[in-house]
Amino acid sequence: MKKVVKGLTYNFVFDYETGFFARWGKTHDDDPLYSPGGPEIADIEISTICSGPFGKRCTFCYKNDTALIEKNMSLKTFQTIIEKINPKGFLCQVALGVGDVDANPDLVPILRYCRENKVVPNITVNGARLEEIYEGITYAEHIAKYCGAVSVSNYDDNLCFNAIKRFTDLGMKQVNIHQLLSSQTIDKCIDLLDKVLNDSRLEKLNAVVFLSYKNKTKCDSFSLLQDDIKYNELITKAFEKNISIGFDSCGASRFIEAIKGRNNYKDIIDFVEPCESGLFSIYVNTDGLFYPCSFTESIGEWKTGIDIVNCDDFMKDVWFSDRVVEWRNKLLKNNRNCPVYKV
Ligand code: SF4
Repeated sequence: MKKVVKGLTYNFVFDYETGFFARWGKTHDDDPLYSPGGPEIADIEISTICSGPFGKRCTFCYKNDTALIEKNMSLKTFQTIIEKINPKGFLCQVALGVGDVDANPDLVPILRYCRENKVVPNITVNGARLEEIYEGITYAEHIAKYCGAVSVSNYDDNLCFNAIKRFTDLGMKQVNIHQLLSSQTIDKCIDLLDKVLNDSRLEKLNAVVFLSYKNKTKCDSFSLLQDDIKYNELITKAFEKNISIGFDSCGASRFIEAIKGRNNYKDIIDFVEPCESGLFSIYVNTDGLFYPCSFTESIGEWKTGIDIVNCDDFMKDVWFSDRVVEWRNKLLKNNRNCPVYKV
């Protein structure tokens, strides 16, 4: 089944089964600057409760500063948000943010609600507590039943690879590893490509998605990867070994720079989308507050968010509000490079 939006200057097609999404403007070569009908994808934090993958909070987690008071989003609040942010039916997918997979008792009802309302839920998990039981079956089984894609953050090879196998054994096709890309982890990133080829638990992995480090927290353990030679080595190795990789949109410019001049440049460039926060996507925290993306929450002009739950008209009060239009213009003027962080 597909969702198709047609207009003079903005069009898209979204495939509910594969997650394939293509957007174009007046012609197929045009790239619309932003969505005129609200977000296509929403990153929604439905829980800040996390005891860490090994029963201890990760010191480097960028959520640490905002999650001192642990909260869950209720199904009712979630429903209100989806109804408000989707007045024109442009919303295709949500990316759900959780800590402990079993912390929010409404997680499964939220996944179910998404499917019933033709919005594909995707989730990122830390790999732990997947065998906890809800309504007679495990969280792993619920995720496999409802989610389009699942990503497992790589805190530990065994925890991560076992979780990947669990999900692929359950028949999921879009199962990814989320791997932090930083000065301290680049060698681990390069080694991970060998593991993808050699570890049988990763046989049906969809892709490794590298997430660029951003210094949101005052963290001494990680720093931005400065070494372009290593960065290029990572990409070259993935191409040579034919391993599927992805990146967060924050690092798109760097990736484009790295693939310039390569034979496969033309094949790849259409799949690269630079930062789309506030243009095509939004972030909503557990309080139902809008921010362009999770990394902008409580930073600079986004010290406070915009209340979605209590807004009267999302398009007027949020999507085309002065604050969001100003953000959008700033991002577009910056060629969709991050206006907040050096990435
Ligand atoms: S605003 Fe910056 S951190 Fe946020 S998604 Fe865009 S590039 Fe990434």
